[in-house]
Amino acid sequence: MSLQQTLDQIARQMAALPDKGTVASYIPELANVDPEHFAISVALPDGQILSAGDAETRFSIQSVSKVFSLALALGRLGDQLWQRVGREPSGLPFNSILQLEHEQGIPRNPFINAGALAVTDAILEGHQPREVLGELLRFIQSAAEDSDIRINEHVARSETAHGDRNLALAHFMAAHGNLRNAPALTCGTYFHQCALEMTTRQLALAGRFLVGGPNLPTLPRLISASSVRRINALMLTCGHYDGSGDFAYRVGLPGKSGVGGGILVIAPGRASIAVWSPGLNAQGNSQLGTLAVERLAQKTGWSIFG
Ligand code: GLN
Repeated sequence: MSLQQTLDQIARQMAALPDKGTVASYIPELANVDPEHFAISVALPDGQILSAGDAETRFSIQSVSKVFSLALALGRLGDQLWQRVGREPSGLPFNSILQLEHEQGIPRNPFINAGALAVTDAILEGHQPREVLGELLRFIQSAAEDSDIRINEHVARSETAHGDRNLALAHFMAAHGNLRNAPALTCGTYFHQCALEMTTRQLALAGRFLVGGPNLPTLPRLISASSVRRINALMLTCGHYDGSGDFAYRVGLPGKSGVGGGILVIAPGRASIAVWSPGLNAQGNSQLGTLAVERLAQKTGWSIFG
């Protein structure tokens, strides 16, 4: 079976499943998204991009954006970033405040909300939110080689109006001296970053800079090879919060999820994969998105574990 046939088959199988998970409702704009949407795209190093389902419909990438802000932060601050955020799985929900108190305002990793706020705060220092968001957008647009990617202002405003929990995390870090900007400024920038929207096709293309591999000159080189390996390691261990172990077990590839129902998955040296199904599981990760990439990994044999 060709890769295109495999993707078509997965899309048909997902459409037939009655339990599609629950769409996130704590950001009101996301609650309006039709849970029946499904899309999957695979970008290959030879320049091919294959898709099935609604691969031309834009969705809110939410926490998948944390991969791109981390790439910018590592480029700008290097290892200094790790003074402000850890590199261990948290085993707790993405928006938990519990660990932050135990660990004196240093978030466990850059993918839980507290950690992502610290990362955004770090790249914001000395800059205007507009500049930082412009830089992030340009990074993603050049990674995808597509300028038609944007921030959805309605989604950003919707989250700002219901952002108490993230503001609490930011204030708590400020109390521990681990925030350089006003909590509202850092959160406002973070909410806009999360409100980036694109199609699975665009996201799979944007993820190619993480595919790595020495013999793949067609892939965009935006960060160093060691940063590529490190970001992939963090995606594998922390990219799905308290569902990271289960994702690694089932899929065997680094991935980063978002509450919009998107997941960016990297098959190192082989492919960048984006999947979207808005319904979430109990850990806030796309339920059918996970199942779809699990099936794709089974069919292709792609795994970092041999
Ligand atoms: N913007 C969302 C939040 O901060 C992102 C969370 C997510 O996608 N897991 O709650």
